[in-house]
Amino acid sequence: MVGGTYLQGFIINLQKVKDEDLIVSILGSDKVYTLYRFYGARHSILNIGYKIDFEIDTNLKGSIHRLKDVMQLGFAWMGEFEKMYAWQRFVKLFYSHLKDVEHIDDFYFVLFNEMLVKITKQNPKRALLEGYIKLLEHEGRLHNEHICLLCEEKIENNISLVRGFLPTHPKCSYSRSFESNHIEELFNEKSAINLNDEEVDYLWQIILQGL
Ligand SMILES: [Zn+2]
Repeated sequence: MVGGTYLQGFIINLQKVKDEDLIVSILGSDKVYTLYRFYGARHSILNIGYKIDFEIDTNLKGSIHRLKDVMQLGFAWMGEFEKMYAWQRFVKLFYSHLKDVEHIDDFYFVLFNEMLVKITKQNPKRALLEGYIKLLEHEGRLHNEHICLLCEEKIENNISLVRGFLPTHPKCSYSRSFESNHIEELFNEKSAINLNDEEVDYLWQIILQGL
């Protein structure tokens, strides 16, 4: 926060103000920074999901500090549309998830960096799905006991997941059925290896409903 100190972060939200100024929300290792950038809309390096080096100018009065000296930290697959599109949709979800949290631990920043590497060699939705399981576990929201949210009975063979990956019986939530052991593996090993692409797509759509 002190002038002259460079920070690193990921842009998770952009809000246009007036014609060309931007309010930029950046996920850093300890908090979500909300900063003002004059003529920000002219800068192509200010985009959702981009990783940046930045400096905060605390000299100006006002309730919001100014974003100074931005440098883009590129990654290998930035030019690949499909990967970038999935990444940006995933990253955007963190804005509503974290914007009102005062201090965050570095789990999120570390997870984002890990995802950058994983997406290099993996289907982005698969990598992000596995990352999402880590997030649920970190936040104490991973339900690996397989009790149906709706009828509160144990789930034996087939399982359905609803928003937040809460487990249900397929017949209780009227949703897509998965083999229980595949979801168990996903939850316990953080591995989507035994899920086919169509199943990964389905789970991806659930994530997009909100973290
Ligand atoms: Zn049930």
